[in-house]
Amino acid sequence: MYDVIIIGGGIIGALIVREFSFYNLSLLLIEKESDVSMGATKANSAIVHAGYDPIPGTLKAKTNVEGNKLYQELCEELSVPFKRIGALVLAFNDEELKTLMELKDRGIKNGVPELYILKREEVLKREPNISKDVKYALFAPTSGITNPFLLTVHAIENAIGNGLVVKLNEEVVSIKKEEKFYQVITNKDIYLTKYIINCAGINSDKIIKMLDPDYPFEIIPRKGEYLVLDKKVKDFVKSTIFHVPTEKGKGVLITPTVEGNILIGPNAEEIPNKEDKSTTLNGLLEVKEKAKNYCENIPFPLVINTFAGIRASSTYKDFFIKELPEFRNILHIAGIDSPGITSAPSISKIALEWLMEKEKITPNKNAKRTLNKIFFRDLPDEEKERLIKEDPRWGHIICRCEHVSEMEVILAIHSKLPAITLEAIRKRTRAGMGRCQGAFCGYHIMKILSEELNLPLPQITFKGSGSYMVKMENKARWKYVKRS
Ligand SMILES: Cc1cc2nc3c(=O)[nH]c(=O)nc-3n(C[C@H](O)[C@H](O)[C@H](O)COP(=O)(O)OP(=O)(O)OC[C@H]3O[C@@H](n4cnc5c(N)ncnc54)[C@H](O)[C@@H]3O)c2cc1C
Repeated sequence: MYDVIIIGGGIIGALIVREFSFYNLSLLLIEKESDVSMGATKANSAIVHAGYDPIPGTLKAKTNVEGNKLYQELCEELSVPFKRIGALVLAFNDEELKTLMELKDRGIKNGVPELYILKREEVLKREPNISKDVKYALFAPTSGITNPFLLTVHAIENAIGNGLVVKLNEEVVSIKKEEKFYQVITNKDIYLTKYIINCAGINSDKIIKMLDPDYPFEIIPRKGEYLVLDKKVKDFVKSTIFHVPTEKGKGVLITPTVEGNILIGPNAEEIPNKEDKSTTLNGLLEVKEKAKNYCENIPFPLVINTFAGIRASSTYKDFFIKELPEFRNILHIAGIDSPGITSAPSISKIALEWLMEKEKITPNKNAKRTLNKIFFRDLPDEEKERLIKEDPRWGHIICRCEHVSEMEVILAIHSKLPAITLEAIRKRTRAGMGRCQGAFCGYHIMKILSEELNLPLPQITFKGSGSYMVKMENKARWKYVKRS
């Protein structure tokens, strides 16, 4: 019997299991995919929003502003990059200026510490690539950028060190209420628990309907597509740039990433199929045109990748953080669309307060809050030399674009949350995320995976469930499988 079962290994589940792991609780995290951070947490803008956008009084507003304040310390504790680069919301006419004033007013009501309206000259001084027709901008210096999937992986690794159990490749298919506990039934096993937290992202409505099929809550999946530019143009913009928002959302932004790429997107399209993460010509063209409306000379020939993420928007306009009346002791954290990355640290504290109201829990004195990770590329030369002397695999650079060593790949494979697919290695080390997108290192990483896991090469996958990289032509030869 577990004290708490958490369904879903996105950023919400990750920060909750970490927060809970500081207490004497038996915890189980169940994730249906081959790794954590496979849903919205993997594919988003990675902005830690300042908090001027959500409607005052909503949970989104409260958790956004609180979450933003918690980010610096959280990322330091978990060896995750975080930079407060500030955000600019651009206005091109007096009508749009009115929207900026409304946003500023909302921000003040939400408790955003600093917000300024800048005039054209100041905006262009900061960001010379913005269209010269700009008139004003709202400047929010507390807005930041981070790496949400690294944060998720590291938070879960931290929690595993404190006693968390993780089951990957297991999908929760039903939940049964017993007199004093719940049965959580997956496609592989049955687990008993006193409490459940539903953080299943786009499937959070499915979990609710496992309990009450008529409960009026639906996820309305909204896809957003992106273009990623090469690091060569890393200074194209220095802060996150938005045009004034519309009813559909914050619109297409241009931002640096913490790793030094430039990200452009997303559009917003309601889609019938929750699993459809494909990019489309129309979607990417829309992103391109919208960005061109407010920024000049965008170096589109330096696009190195495209991707799409699905927002778990819902019929309930705010974040849905509730128990259902008939099913006490299950907290649903559902409909967590934007600003879910920003709000996650604050939401994890709400979940902890919820549990503390129900159960007397005591701190786990042996629990650690920190997770130290080495990124070879960031080390000073003397430290690099010391490590290479210790083990020459530190000096064997596997990914030349992102400067990732063989040793980092091996450590990721044997970490507390083992990386056993190419994508899982990418998330933890960035190998394969650079300019060549794995064309050079892909094969080397497959070989390392194959040797370290003692698996034949054809069994290595890109991201689990049949996404094989190579297939055997005959007993002696293999060839690459074409991936879509
Ligand atoms: C295009 C886009 C841009 C965004 N930009 C930002 C931004 O800049 N800043 C910001 O703050 N927020 C942003 N967001 C929102 C943010 O990404 C999400 O709010 C956040 O990632 C949600 O995290 P989650 O843990 O709730 O969901 P997810 O990351 O989707 O995780 C849910 C997990 O549950 C698992 N799961 C589902 N069903 C089951 C089951 N039955 N059994 C077991 N496991 C299951 C899934 O596999 C998944 O791993 C953006 C979102 C999108 C899509």
